[in-house]
Amino acid sequence: MTLAELRAAFDAGEIDTVLVAAPDMQGRLMGKRFHAAHFLDAGHAETHCCNYLLATDMEMLTVEGYASTSWAKGYGDYTMKPDLTTLRPLPWLPGTALVLCDLLDHHTHAEVAISPRAILKRQVARAREMGFVAMAATELEFFIFEQSYEQLRDQGTDRLTPISSYNEDYHLFQTSKEEPVMRALRNGLYGAGIPVENTKGEAEAGQEEINIRYAEMLDTADYHVITKQAAKEIAHALGKSLTFMAKYDHRRAGSSSHVHQSLWTLDGKPAFLDPDVAHGMSQVMQQFLAGQLAHAGEITALLAPYVNSYKRFCVGMFAPTKAVWSFDNRTAGFRICGEGTKAIRVECRIGGADLNPYLACAGLLAAGLAGIAQGMELEPEAAGDSYQNAQAREIPKTLRDAADRLEGSAMLRAAFGEDVVDHYTRAARWEIEEQDRVVTDWERKRLFERG
Ligand code: ADP
Repeated sequence: MTLAELRAAFDAGEIDTVLVAAPDMQGRLMGKRFHAAHFLDAGHAETHCCNYLLATDMEMLTVEGYASTSWAKGYGDYTMKPDLTTLRPLPWLPGTALVLCDLLDHHTHAEVAISPRAILKRQVARAREMGFVAMAATELEFFIFEQSYEQLRDQGTDRLTPISSYNEDYHLFQTSKEEPVMRALRNGLYGAGIPVENTKGEAEAGQEEINIRYAEMLDTADYHVITKQAAKEIAHALGKSLTFMAKYDHRRAGSSSHVHQSLWTLDGKPAFLDPDVAHGMSQVMQQFLAGQLAHAGEITALLAPYVNSYKRFCVGMFAPTKAVWSFDNRTAGFRICGEGTKAIRVECRIGGADLNPYLACAGLLAAGLAGIAQGMELEPEAAGDSYQNAQAREIPKTLRDAADRLEGSAMLRAAFGEDVVDHYTRAARWEIEEQDRVVTDWERKRLFERG
C-alpha cells in the first residue's frame, strides 16, 4: 500500500494504527505502534530506537562483548527509517498497517552494517553487480498446540498438547482441525500482499507448513518475518500457541525452513537453466551450488543459530546431516528441484524454522556468489542414503563447531565485513555460554534423586 492509500484508509476510518518495525538479530519484529495520524504526519520519515535492539538475546538481555554497543558506549539510538515499499495492511489486527524499517546510524544516517536487513541488502546488491537477481522462497514449518501462550506460561511446557494427535503429512482431514488458525493465516497474509501458495500438514502431530511464492530475496525475508508474526498473533487470538523452535521435543520431528534459491539475469531469464546441459543445470548454477557446498560449514551458524537448532540434525527424520547435493533426495543438505525447467533451483535443507531469514539468505547467497566468482567445479551428485555415507561432508554437529567455522570464514569476512562476522560469532558464543551455565529440567530429572 502506498502512503496515499494509507492516508485514504485513515480518512475512511479503516486504519488507525501503524506498526513501525525493524527485524532484530533473531528475526523478530521490534518497534512501536504509531497512531496513523502521527505516522502520516511525521513518523513515515523516520523514528528511533535504542541501539541495544541489535545486541540482545531472546530474553532482551544486554549481552557483553559486542563492539557495536555496550554500557560503556551508553546504549545510544539507531534511526529507524521506514522502507515505504513494505507498507501493508495487516488484516488479522483490526485497523492496523505495518511498515518495515532499515536501521541507520543516528548521526551519519549510514545503514548499520550489523542489521540483518542491511546484511542481506548488501549481498543482493553484490549479486546485481555480477548480473544476477537473487530469488528465493523460505518454506516454514511449525507446531500448533491446544494451549494458549498464557496457559503454558502458568502451567509450564511439560505437557504440551499438539493440536492434532498423529502424523498429518498431506493429511486433509487432520488439517481440517487446524483451519481456524491456518485459514486465517492464509487469508490474512494474502490480504497483507504476501503471495501465499498453500499450507499443508507435516510429518508429525500438530505440525504445519506454509509456502509463500518465491520472490526477490529481500522480499522473501520480509515475508518470512511477517508470516511468523502473523502465525503467532492469529494463534494467540484463537487461544492457541505455536512454535518455530527447530526441535521442541527430542521425541518428535523438528521444524525446518528450507530455502529455495535461483538466480535470474537482469532481463528476467533463468540463469540456472541451460537446456543443452544434463538436467538443465547451467554452469552458473553448478558453480553457485559448488560454492554453497564448499562453504556450508561456515554458513551453518546462520542457518542454525541456537544450541537447540542442532538437535534437529538427527538421522532418519528428514533433516540433513551432510552437506552434499542430490536430485530429489531428501537425505542430502542440498536438493535440486525443477530440473530441466525454468523453475530449476537449489533447495538448501539445512536451515531450521528458527533461522533469521535475512542472515540465512545472505549467507547462502554470499557462498553461492563465491562459487561463481571463483568458477568452482561441482562435485558429483551424492547417491543413496546420505545419512550412512561416511565420506560425505558433515554439517557442523554443534553450535560450538559452527561458531568456530563462522569466525574463521574468510569468505564471509570478505562478503559481510569483519564487524558483521565478529558480531554474529559473539551472538552464537553467547548462546553457548548461556547453555553451559543454565541448569535444566533434564539435569534435575536425571541427577536429583538417582545421582
Ligand atoms: P516442496 O514440494 O518442496 O514444498 P514446492 O513445489 O512447494 O516444493 O516449492 C517450494 C517453494 O519453491 C515454493 O515456495 C515456490 O514458490 C518456490 N520456487 C518455485 N520456483 C522457484 C525458483 N525458480 N526459485 C526459487 N524458488 C522457487
